[in-house]
Amino acid sequence: MSKTKAPKESETNQTFSFKAETRQLLNILIHSLYKEREVFLRELLSNASDALNRLRFEMLTNQDVLDSEAELCVRISLDKEQRLLTIQDSGIGMTRDEIIEHLGTIAESGARKFIQASREKQADFSQIIGQFGVGFYSVFMVAESVRVTSRSFRPQAEAVSWYATGDDTYQVSPAQMPERGTKIEIKLKEDAAEFAEEFRIQNIIHRHSDYIGFPIYLGEAKDPVNKRASLWRTSRSEISDEQYKDFYRQTTLDWEEPLLRIHLVTDAPVQLYALLYLPAKAERGLFALRKDDGLKLYSRNILIDEYNKDLLPDYLRFVQGVVDSEDLPLNVSRETVQASGLMPRLKKVLTGQVLKELENLAKNDPEKYNAFWQEFGGYIKQGVASDTAEGQKLHDLLRFRTNQQPETWSSLAEYAGRMKEDQKEIYYIVGDDAKSVLRSPHLDTFNDLGLEVLLLTEPMDSFLLMGLRAYKEFALKNAAQADIQPAEKSGQDADGERIPDDDFNLLVERFKDVLGEQVTDVRTSQRLSQSLARLVDPEGSPNPEMQRVYKYLGKEYEVPKKILELNPAHPLLKNLLKLGADTELGQAIIEQVYDSALLVEGLHPDPSSLAPRIQQIMEAALEKSTKN
Ligand code: ADP
Ligand code: MG
Repeated sequence: MSKTKAPKESETNQTFSFKAETRQLLNILIHSLYKEREVFLRELLSNASDALNRLRFEMLTNQDVLDSEAELCVRISLDKEQRLLTIQDSGIGMTRDEIIEHLGTIAESGARKFIQASREKQADFSQIIGQFGVGFYSVFMVAESVRVTSRSFRPQAEAVSWYATGDDTYQVSPAQMPERGTKIEIKLKEDAAEFAEEFRIQNIIHRHSDYIGFPIYLGEAKDPVNKRASLWRTSRSEISDEQYKDFYRQTTLDWEEPLLRIHLVTDAPVQLYALLYLPAKAERGLFALRKDDGLKLYSRNILIDEYNKDLLPDYLRFVQGVVDSEDLPLNVSRETVQASGLMPRLKKVLTGQVLKELENLAKNDPEKYNAFWQEFGGYIKQGVASDTAEGQKLHDLLRFRTNQQPETWSSLAEYAGRMKEDQKEIYYIVGDDAKSVLRSPHLDTFNDLGLEVLLLTEPMDSFLLMGLRAYKEFALKNAAQADIQPAEKSGQDADGERIPDDDFNLLVERFKDVLGEQVTDVRTSQRLSQSLARLVDPEGSPNPEMQRVYKYLGKEYEVPKKILELNPAHPLLKNLLKLGADTELGQAIIEQVYDSALLVEGLHPDPSSLAPRIQQIMEAALEKSTKN
């Protein structure tokens, strides 16, 4: 710019370039053939609503704002002839610096994820735009040009205007606007003229923005278009199923129906409205509107925290929704809300309610509860591991697979109901997955005796056990360490013959020689019937689940040294004895017996290292059988 007298920056018309990332997004949006372009209105209205919420929050503590008497609302006007759509809010507004910062670069909205996804795979974006909160820029799906004029709530701020046509640059210039807020003037593309039609706009608002908490006026109408109801403050009997679902969808952009909803209104011990949802999926979708965990916290219908994490314990962080209380002091900052002492009481009520609803679900609709468990079981386990306050209530929400019912989920109460008459303990076994754990030699005796054992195969289970030492009067006991009497037939194979003691001792010596330092001892076992060998912990070592906790947490995990127990009636050992001392094959087999035991235990540090030895054994086997 070559002017004689340099004017103040804020008085000139300045041109800026969009960042590369923004240009890329604009490009996708401008050329998008997405048929539901209408979502741009949802994005603009949601920004207006954010701006109004922020202004209202500001006014809790600051009366020195421009137009402090102005109604908090959104006004939409249409001009069909000119293809103009104008959306104006009386929200917090933007200063010149803010408008450059906020509209010049991609905000933290879904847009960033969208761009990321567009880099990662060449998906058909037009299909998914509607599910992203792509933010302000989505207006370029329908706009030939956009002018944003804004005036900040700060009394000294001057109005500013931002103008873009969707190419690489935008202009910022001073503007005339006496009132506080933001006005977005859109010149619609020729093929987007429908968005200047009143009926169409009404329709879109009902579909996507009905639950915005501020009135949206259309044209000259005196009544707002949107329902505007704070659904959580509406009586349950007046809300249809459809409305509950719409509310969830519009506030989370989760397209899947929630698993459960909880609408709670109480006066004691605290006054509280809550509308909570359990999503169908634990993973927050790529498309989710919510950017973080936490509940929306309102105080007398005013949003004071978008992502409040103090209303529920951490393990219930997957719960979505709104909490509103008349008891929260109004004239406060977020910090004083935390200090007010009310939060723990709200949390107690809400936690109790969520757990009660889950309990009811488990009782009344086990199938749905199982679906919940499948998705969120890990969270409940985390709760048991970390939260002792809720104790038994959480224990009853746990579900397990067992050696006797590996395909279905059992509660601890169900397990207890199936216990043998003289059984005093609840048995469990830890491992890497249900299949391999079912093969565990530790289960031999339990299977022989028909004793039920919980299969704990997830990393979280080892932590779970730290918080779950007993259920009712029954202590939990690791099957590998349980002190149970073997069944009669144990220790005998089909022909019932055990290796004579002298020979067996020879064998034990050979195992010790070959395995050396890897084991603390080799000995006979009373607890094996089908299996060849098992590993047990020497007296005084940490129990198996603690070893796993170390494995998960530890940087340098070492396989703990164990005792190798052998089944003196197993045919393989009999044949090994016949093979004679110190052959190469004999050594390989002994190593393999130990490694296999480690594998079943889920403790092998390097399973692929077994391949060469297995090949060696196979070669030997083939050589033998082709010779014969
Ligand atoms: P997001 O809403 O996720 O932050 P957007 O792209 O929708 O992303 O908006 C970018 C930013 O622009 C907002 O965070 C806000 O600071 C600002 N903004 C957009 N619309 C308005 C408005 N009507 N009033 C005030 N600020 C706005
Ligand atoms: Mg937005």
